[in-house]
Amino acid sequence: MRNSLKSCIAALTLSLVLHSCGGQKEVAVEQKPGPSPEAQLSDQLVMSTLWYQSSIERKIISMQAYATARRLLKQNMIRYEGSEKPLAVVLDIDETVLDNSPYEARLIRNNATYSPQSWAEWVMSSEARLIPGVEEFLNVCEGSGVEVFYISNRSAELLEPTSENLQRHNLPFSDPGHIFLKTETSDKTERRELLKASHTIILSVGDQFSDFMSYEIMDFEEARVPPALRDSIARHFVLLPNPMYGDFEKKLYPRGSKTAPAQKLELRRRALRTE
Ligand SMILES: [Mg+2]
Repeated sequence: MRNSLKSCIAALTLSLVLHSCGGQKEVAVEQKPGPSPEAQLSDQLVMSTLWYQSSIERKIISMQAYATARRLLKQNMIRYEGSEKPLAVVLDIDETVLDNSPYEARLIRNNATYSPQSWAEWVMSSEARLIPGVEEFLNVCEGSGVEVFYISNRSAELLEPTSENLQRHNLPFSDPGHIFLKTETSDKTERRELLKASHTIILSVGDQFSDFMSYEIMDFEEARVPPALRDSIARHFVLLPNPMYGDFEKKLYPRGSKTAPAQKLELRRRALRTE
């Protein structure tokens, strides 16, 4: 009761009575409402987006990741030399090949949060820049006779502008036949299995663990990961940094229902570990 009374008072226009030499003067000071929950969510992206766009550390991590990818490519080409199927490398697209941080920056500037419409607009511009190190890696794949496939959770209607964006950077295998986008499920397992029917996947590159294997399989705690799986991750998967969004966020909210922006704000704070 006391809280609701307080908020009512805060919402009202306050009147300040100022004393001046000529007597009393009443000045109306409007109490501005605080930013909306959407605007606050959007604002939480500022530092991660700035780190992504401005820090030398992020560029070095990406370049190191792709240097590791080149090394693992060579190692795995030897490891899978006797394979009957042609060798393939799988890459995710967003924050793995293409840098969509300008889209995040626009959301922040507009006090907006992700929407399929604004995302589609950005994708259709085909103007995303490349992640540092990716171009060299893809050229090494092509030069080594290893085919590249892109498995992305961009929706299937966005195939053409996606392919165009990759082609603008002259990336190899950027034709629509090498790009598997999302039709029904965001779980990439099915699309990986489809590719495995014709190719041996020797390496995967992504910014989410789900770019390598189904996220649902385990909660990643080092002690609980069997050594064989740890070994497989080390040999077959290269991970790129993405602090702006990702599967980690899904774990914060209740499953199966849409979480309201105000509730998201609260759940994010509650999920912080303080010791
Ligand atoms: Mg991605």
